Amino acid sequence: MQKVRLGKTELEVSKNGFGALPIQRITKAEAVYLLQKAFYHGINYFDTARAYSDSEEKLGAAFSYTREKLVISTKTTAQNEKDFWKDLDESLLKLQTDYIDIYQFHNPAFCPRPEDGTGLYEAALKAKEQGKIRHIGITNHRLAVADEAIASGLYETLQFPFSYLAAEADIKLAEQCKDADMGFIAMKGLSGGLIHNSAAAYAFMAQPQFSNVAPIWGIQKENELDEFLSYEVCPPQLTKELQEEIAKDREQLSGDFCRGCGYCMPCPAGIEINNCARMSLMLRRAPQTAWLSSEWQAKMQKIDGCMHCNKCMKKCPYGLNTPELLAKNYEDYKTFL
Ligand code: SF4
Ligand code: SF4
Repeated sequence: MQKVRLGKTELEVSKNGFGALPIQRITKAEAVYLLQKAFYHGINYFDTARAYSDSEEKLGAAFSYTREKLVISTKTTAQNEKDFWKDLDESLLKLQTDYIDIYQFHNPAFCPRPEDGTGLYEAALKAKEQGKIRHIGITNHRLAVADEAIASGLYETLQFPFSYLAAEADIKLAEQCKDADMGFIAMKGLSGGLIHNSAAAYAFMAQPQFSNVAPIWGIQKENELDEFLSYEVCPPQLTKELQEEIAKDREQLSGDFCRGCGYCMPCPAGIEINNCARMSLMLRRAPQTAWLSSEWQAKMQKIDGCMHCNKCMKKCPYGLNTPELLAKNYEDYKTFL
């Protein structure tokens, strides 16, 4: 199985990491089965977060007996020292472990630093000294914060959205991490469901220039796991056919499209922005029937109630004009109907 060295952490993880956000949506028994199957077939890296409801608990149930053979990363959204310790203790308890390999600040709007007044970075250092965490990482969706984290020299890993739709600046981040000897963990390798060809997604990540990139695939179903496991045995090559498919997706999905991350929510008008703002793409790239149901028609209709408060726009890490995007998607949706 292909391995990736996560920079100065010296951790060696499987090229296919397991993103444990989607296991929130399945039962504990199903999750334990899926996680253990992944492990027995060579996946040794599992990424979760305190914010993913019972995901940590499911990981704990699956792996407490074999902890030392795994690399586990989790995340905290704490904004102060008190919440940092509360989250860390809770994560250790749920994961049934006494240490976390990589403890990450979960998409903070700023890059935590010593003496920034929050006490967050100092707390992480103390947790490292105590052996509760082994490495300090950061996840983000904002280029500016990611750039600052790399330049600061304070972090051992960066987790950032990265797929074959990556812009030049995102690719540069992966290179900068390599130069800084930081681990680069790629989230959203299927761009939040917009990329359907996982073989193309894998083949892109497996190119030699991305040897330092460790993708974590969000896995919920056994067939999804089987797909990624099969790529270990028989790695897909970037054939002319796959390259053409990637080029077509890049053309269709370039520019201002909503990645479905949900960082702009909640919306005071109750609009489910993370799906409504990319409805046009979903209608064209996924089976349409579900999106045209009466339930979804009602959700799309809520766009009429947008108060143009612009709260979403301020929070979108991709700088999208969200209210405008919602209006465009709604117009298109009505035409579709
Ligand atoms: S601008 Fe509209 S969509 Fe955005 S948060 Fe405000 S009400 Fe919701
Ligand atoms: S509008 Fe921006 S923040 Fe909101 S879901 Fe889409 S990409 Fe994410």
